[in-house]
Amino acid sequence: MYLAKAFAAQRRGEPLTAWQVQRRALRPRDVLIEIDFCGVCHSDLHQARGEWGRQLFPMVPGHEIVGHVQRVGPAVSRRQVGDRVGVGCFVDSCRRCASCLEGLEPYCEQGMTATYNSLERDGLTRSYGGYATAIVVDEAYTVAIPEALPSDAAAPLLCAGITVYSPLRHWRAGPGTRVAVLGLGGLGHVAVKIARALGAEVSVLSHSARKEQDAFRLGAHAFHCATDFATQTHLRGAFDLILHTVSSRVDLDALAGLLRRDGTLVMLGISPEPQGIRAFSLISQRRSLAGSTMGGIAQTQEMLDFCAQHGICCDIERIRMQDINEAFERLQGGDVRYRFVIDMASLRA
Ligand code: NAP
Ligand code: ZN
Ligand code: ZN
Repeated sequence: MYLAKAFAAQRRGEPLTAWQVQRRALRPRDVLIEIDFCGVCHSDLHQARGEWGRQLFPMVPGHEIVGHVQRVGPAVSRRQVGDRVGVGCFVDSCRRCASCLEGLEPYCEQGMTATYNSLERDGLTRSYGGYATAIVVDEAYTVAIPEALPSDAAAPLLCAGITVYSPLRHWRAGPGTRVAVLGLGGLGHVAVKIARALGAEVSVLSHSARKEQDAFRLGAHAFHCATDFATQTHLRGAFDLILHTVSSRVDLDALAGLLRRDGTLVMLGISPEPQGIRAFSLISQRRSLAGSTMGGIAQTQEMLDFCAQHGICCDIERIRMQDINEAFERLQGGDVRYRFVIDMASLRA
């Protein structure tokens, strides 16, 4: 067992406070990772505040982890002490079902083991995330950080990056595709960069007029600010693919109306409140409403290599672990450009 320093929410909605987390003794294929940086995803906030229903407490959030391998189990073959590695939203899966065998571990038919707020495969042990100085993970659920990417600005790629890269590839965004990104936050800002690098024509749909300049700087070809897209008649039928990256409820009927025939609206954002859509909004132009989560390990590695090749990393604001509660407040209020990343040196000091 290894004791790591961590920050945890002891109960639903309580501020995060200093805690110690026990990491398991290394199994043959495990690596012990000393965490250098961990991104702050809106999902961390949703879960620490219990916004998605029943959660497991105490909770150590964090699933955008970059660190160095400090120790390896005796059967580890792909990682070495000193390697710079990343861990994203999941740390295990059944490894046998059709999804796992296809490299789609997040869609494991038995359910993936999330990096935190989850039970391990034994059904008893709890998983704790990356707001900590160290984590133990099976090497098969780690990825290599390409040399060209800085650790801090690469960390959010482990969730935000792969969550947008995966649907952009699945729905074949590229030259000739008109992609809209709804919400310019952590996910949204990487989506703009990646969609642009894939060759798509990219528009940002935001409710914050003040983000217009940023949208163009990030690579968007167009920016549309609105709280009510139903009134934007000139945008009707404008897009092939819309990535919904908003953390709260939006008018899905109005949004679907912006799709051309056969276009797809992909839900990535997970509003705590349920939301619906009228059948007519989809039927009229044979539109699709879809959902998507992170890609698997192989695709996460592909995404990191793609980002390294295209010079893509995240726009971040580094914070100390001790400032996480203030960061959550700012995230809730939309005051972040565009991802907080915790410098774990602050927790070691
Ligand atoms: P974030 O950084 O807070 O960005 C969310 C953006 O949504 C904001 O920047 C804002 O953009 C917009 N927004 C926020 N409140 C709004 C409101 N009341 N009305 C309209 N727009 C609003 O969050 P994130 O980390 O990118 O995560 C976004 C969502 O994706 C969260 O729900 C998260 O849980 C979910 N998520 C899902 C997956 C998955 O597997 N599918 C993975 C990661 C995250 P504008 O100012 O531009 O409007
Ligand atoms: Zn996340
Ligand atoms: Zn599986």
